[in-house]
Amino acid sequence: MRLSKDFFYTIKENVADEDSVSGNLLVRSGMIEKIGNGIYAKMPLGKKTIKNIENIVRKYMDEAGANELSMPSLLPMEVFERAGRKEAFGSSMFRLNDRYNREYALGPTHEELFAIASMNKVKSYRDLPFTIYQIGSKYRDEMRPRLGLIRTREFTMKDSYSFDKDYEGLDVSYKKMFDAYHKIFKELGIVYTVVKADTGAMGGLLSEEFQAITDIGEDTLVLCDNCDFSSNLEITPCINDKKNIEKEKDLQMVETPNSHTINEVCDYLKLDIKKTVKALLMNIDGKLVVLFIRGDRELNEAKVLKLLNVRSIGFANDELIATSNAVAGYTGPINLDAKIVIDNEVLNMKNFCCGANKEGYHYINANIKDIKFDISGDIVNVKNGDICPNCGKNLVFKKGIEIGNTFKLGTKYSESLGLNYLGDDNKNHPVVMGSYGIGIERILSAIVEQNHDEKGIIFPMNIAPYKVAVVVINPKEEKQLEAGNELYNNLNKIGIDCLIDDRTERAGVKFNDIDLLGIPIRITIGKKINDGIIEIKTRKEENGEEYELKDTIEIVKKLIV
Ligand SMILES: [Zn+2]
Repeated sequence: MRLSKDFFYTIKENVADEDSVSGNLLVRSGMIEKIGNGIYAKMPLGKKTIKNIENIVRKYMDEAGANELSMPSLLPMEVFERAGRKEAFGSSMFRLNDRYNREYALGPTHEELFAIASMNKVKSYRDLPFTIYQIGSKYRDEMRPRLGLIRTREFTMKDSYSFDKDYEGLDVSYKKMFDAYHKIFKELGIVYTVVKADTGAMGGLLSEEFQAITDIGEDTLVLCDNCDFSSNLEITPCINDKKNIEKEKDLQMVETPNSHTINEVCDYLKLDIKKTVKALLMNIDGKLVVLFIRGDRELNEAKVLKLLNVRSIGFANDELIATSNAVAGYTGPINLDAKIVIDNEVLNMKNFCCGANKEGYHYINANIKDIKFDISGDIVNVKNGDICPNCGKNLVFKKGIEIGNTFKLGTKYSESLGLNYLGDDNKNHPVVMGSYGIGIERILSAIVEQNHDEKGIIFPMNIAPYKVAVVVINPKEEKQLEAGNELYNNLNKIGIDCLIDDRTERAGVKFNDIDLLGIPIRITIGKKINDGIIEIKTRKEENGEEYELKDTIEIVKKLIV
């Protein structure tokens, strides 16, 4: 790339509508351009970087024996109807109609299509196993696109799917992909962790997420500071098996005027919040359900949905609350006329405070024996101070960007779509599937989030759009330009991606642009070229060092290895 002629620009100021470091730096460096809400164009430098990432992903997919293919993004809606996912995706799926008013979707994911496309191949058990993949566009109508390339409405995904005759086979195929993912993220130089996750809309048996650890991640990761436990907050079990030996006292109703919130009650009664139980009045599938958790806890809605095997959860409105004797601000589990769910932790609490279902009153010294409830379970988030489900030591919290996921799907899709094979028992069996995704642009974002300073991006060598930038200080000086051109040509000739900055700009402007773009090695050619001297500086160093021009290529080769 020759900056004086090729398509290149940078933006000096921070971009107003980017809410992440990576989004801001990628737009400013001219790598991407925002086209609309959650829609970005990849400009030449961005496209080249993304290609480098894709090639690393592709290398390890091929090495794991997966075959690349390409699926359409425009999919007949029927594809999703057959596996019941038109509903499951709901409004997060882009829908459109053709001229005959037939319904289509822009593919949010491709499990169904890969299963359908495999039907011609899969006849008998001898046709299994195999794994196929693509690198292509996905579309999701996100409610709130944000964080640059991290949550967008059109994005590139590597998705692969494994097909096996049984679960033992799936375990083998799954491990191959899982191992390939470790190799990919290691080669990309990403700091990441693997966490168990909710299987959600995908369905299936096991879901694991590869999470890049950053300051701005959308997911909260729960790790242990002692063992290798790691999990997504959504599904981390809350453990409370400490024996509570406190002696139970007699239940007592006390006046708590104008104390509607748990903090107001604690202030008024001078209570530790951990000695209180709060009520959450919820609308669950259209019915009132009252959840009781310890006063300082946060509800985990995903756990509630799973425990009750229901689809939707939200706060109850006044009308729904009026179907019971609950009094807003004073709702308690004793003599409450509604469906009651108790968090496991409350089962173990002694002499706690809770609402009395009477305006201005609470109970103190309440105990579980005073309560009639319908069901109990783990329905809260773990928090600081909670213990690791593995080893009992302390849990720690980090933020993460999900860059990859692996699912053991089982037979959900093959059964609903009719992907069967004839076994050696002469009977038909559903194929056992796995699905494995990697977010290509999210990798780019995660790398920038993890590798930058106040001047710009610091690209790792193997994905940088160019490994070397040759900066000619004064291109009007024939000797400088000549030496620059020669170096530029020779480096490219031996396969070291190199750009040349031969613009008639001030040196400071050129240096800033190369730093912003994160090019790992800068070679500066200035006046000293008359004595055969150039300067080499890596992106991470503050100052460069002088070398003889004739040694340059050897030094660059050493820096690149
Ligand atoms: Zn642990």
